[in-house]
Amino acid sequence: MKNISIIGGGIGGLTTALCFEKLGIAYTLFEKVDELKTVGAGIWLSPNALQVLEWIDPKLLHSIQRSGNSFDKILLANHKLEPIRDSSQDFVKDVFGYTTLAIHRGVLQKTLYSFINKANIKLDKGFEYYTLNNDHSYTINFHDKSIQKTNAIIGADGINSKVRQQLFPDSKLRYSGQTCWRGVADFEIDSNLASSGFTLWGKKLQFGVSKLEKGKTYWFAVMLSEPNLQDNKDTVKTKLMELFSQYHPIVTTLIQNTSINKIIRGNISDLEWLGKWHADNICLIGDAAHAMTPDLGQGGAQAIEDAFYLANFIDNTNTLDTAFNDFYNYRKKKVKKLVEQSRLTSKMAVTNGPLELLRNIILKYSPEKALQKQMIETYTIDKTVYQA
Ligand SMILES: Cc1cc2nc3c(=O)[nH]c(=O)nc-3n(C[C@H](O)[C@H](O)[C@H](O)COP(=O)(O)OP(=O)(O)OC[C@H]3O[C@@H](n4cnc5c(N)ncnc54)[C@H](O)[C@@H]3O)c2cc1C
Repeated sequence: MKNISIIGGGIGGLTTALCFEKLGIAYTLFEKVDELKTVGAGIWLSPNALQVLEWIDPKLLHSIQRSGNSFDKILLANHKLEPIRDSSQDFVKDVFGYTTLAIHRGVLQKTLYSFINKANIKLDKGFEYYTLNNDHSYTINFHDKSIQKTNAIIGADGINSKVRQQLFPDSKLRYSGQTCWRGVADFEIDSNLASSGFTLWGKKLQFGVSKLEKGKTYWFAVMLSEPNLQDNKDTVKTKLMELFSQYHPIVTTLIQNTSINKIIRGNISDLEWLGKWHADNICLIGDAAHAMTPDLGQGGAQAIEDAFYLANFIDNTNTLDTAFNDFYNYRKKKVKKLVEQSRLTSKMAVTNGPLELLRNIILKYSPEKALQKQMIETYTIDKTVYQA
């Protein structure tokens, strides 16, 4: 009866498909690329995301855990890798049974995809626009001129969502003023560092590192910049090594050991708060609804949480309109807070001079208990939604 079309087979769309399958909700997913390749760099998956994956199927969680690298510690350091704050993740493990893990983004997507019934997925279907029919259904128009009639649309098509652009034409992306390079180095980091997710802050720059798997290390580099700049492939590594020459030598070693084809650059932007994520029977999730800067490592985790809550609200109510409304009202407080905190952290991370010193002192002496409480809140999934 609820013939739902999911647009986008990224982290949020694939997880929504899996949640729908678990709850017996009929759907078809349309993804614009013709093949899911192991592209992209790394991603940190926090315990809130992992709990949803475990709820979908414990075998899915185990598969992801086997392909990734779990952290014992999250380290925030200055540019010389001297700790500002070194947080053991034991308290997280005590509460949830596991800690944040780093995994290759392409491996994550392929693993999610491998657990889905392929009959429900249509690749090479780029959404262009929808029209509303007299019977209140929609017709979706794809880039190859094919169409699909559907009762409802879930827009999971990411930060530049075409579904959102049609549904809420006034929505605005906000460029953060920062550009980000990501890469995967063919390099094994020191065993002391391998069990940490760590970020170095200083000199108006930021560099993050985590081991992904044996011999592979994910890194990201952030600096202030004009938007949409492109790199010359022949000089990008030299440019990055020069930029980070005052940093701990691990940084240049990682850049040096990364193939040029594995360095990706992009704007860091977030989405101005929408105020609602649905109209009639069309609802947005993930970055399409609430893209945030990556500074708290929560964008993907929140897309995964969206999938879980949306599927359960649909399962628990008779009309999609009610489910979409309940979903937004339930999710808005947590997600808005994370969008704002991510934006603030982004500004704090890339600063300089006396502000940098003040920031480090505040971070060093913030009470551990308060930080732990905040992390536990972020990582908590409300299990009463599906036990109801
Ligand atoms: C530098 C950086 C680092 C990050 N690090 C982390 C991290 O460590 N942890 C974390 O949790 N989050 C992180 N994030 C955020 C995370 O990547 C996003 O929040 C997450 O990918 C959002 O998932 P999504 O499914 O909404 O969108 P996406 O993952 O972007 O997926 C969108 C999908 O829709 C498809 N699509 C697009 N347009 C169409 C169309 N017209 N028709 C059909 N399909 C379409 C795309 O091909 C894609 O498959 C990071 C983001 C950045 C930029």
